[in-house]
Amino acid sequence: MVELEQTRLMLENLGLSQAAITLDSHLDYAARSEITYLEFINRLLKDEADFRRKRSEETRLKLSRLPHKKTLDEFDFSFQPSLDERQIRELATLSFIHRQENVILLGPPGVGKSHIAIGLAVEAIRQGLSVYFVSMDKLLDDLRRANNEGRLHHRWKVYQRPGLLVIDEIGYSQLDRVSGNLFFQLICSRYEKGSMILTSNKGFGEWGDLMGDVPLATAILDRLLHHAHVVNIRGQSYRIKARVKASGSVIPQQFQGDMSNGVVNS
Ligand code: ADP
Ligand code: MG
Repeated sequence: MVELEQTRLMLENLGLSQAAITLDSHLDYAARSEITYLEFINRLLKDEADFRRKRSEETRLKLSRLPHKKTLDEFDFSFQPSLDERQIRELATLSFIHRQENVILLGPPGVGKSHIAIGLAVEAIRQGLSVYFVSMDKLLDDLRRANNEGRLHHRWKVYQRPGLLVIDEIGYSQLDRVSGNLFFQLICSRYEKGSMILTSNKGFGEWGDLMGDVPLATAILDRLLHHAHVVNIRGQSYRIKARVKASGSVIPQQFQGDMSNGVVNS
């Protein structure tokens, strides 16, 4: 059928590649179920639109550099009573991103800070936004290297462009003067322009020590906290819960044994 081939080719040339692929089956279905012309074109175009949405979501997921895909549905709120589930559900509507506000998740290791940050990031990707995830150490390594090589201007774009920037694990390493200044510049560049989610095991009172410079830490916090939702998680580590369940002890199995003389039997 010449017409069929022509139609398929036109769909392809117009960039409607999925519609070109599914044209046959839609024609079959239309003939069998006697749907209207409008229904037919509607179904064909919906296929194309769904396919594009999915492909764009996959691309944004890949570009986000999320370490893994965790969703908020996988988060057990009953394990973390200090956490206000309603607040997290409200954040998951992502209105904070549309208002260029920040989310700062604080708490000891294992309480689910990264999980929640990733869960919110996945939600943002689902809703069509661009996201970039980076750990604090990697971010500073990257900025320092770019600074030394004179390509800082180019690298800024990576951190300025996304609708949501997630900086995970602030507080594990001390910042030197150059790193502190680069971090300050980054915070300034996104201030009131783009949302960030930050996670830290250090309370704000310890950020002065962390940055090795109290006035700098104050200036950073001043901007970060101006429009921010601070979520303090005070519970137990979920990693320890998983360990207790598996082995009946909070001590990892390889470290269990006679520790009375300071020697760990493994
Ligand atoms: P943090 O970033 O606070 O150190 P993570 O978010 O990395 O902690 O959590 C450690 C591990 O435990 C992850 O695999 C995470 O998915 C899981 N986890 C933490 N809290 C919960 C929870 N309340 N429900 C389900 N899984 C959780
Ligand atoms: Mg973490």
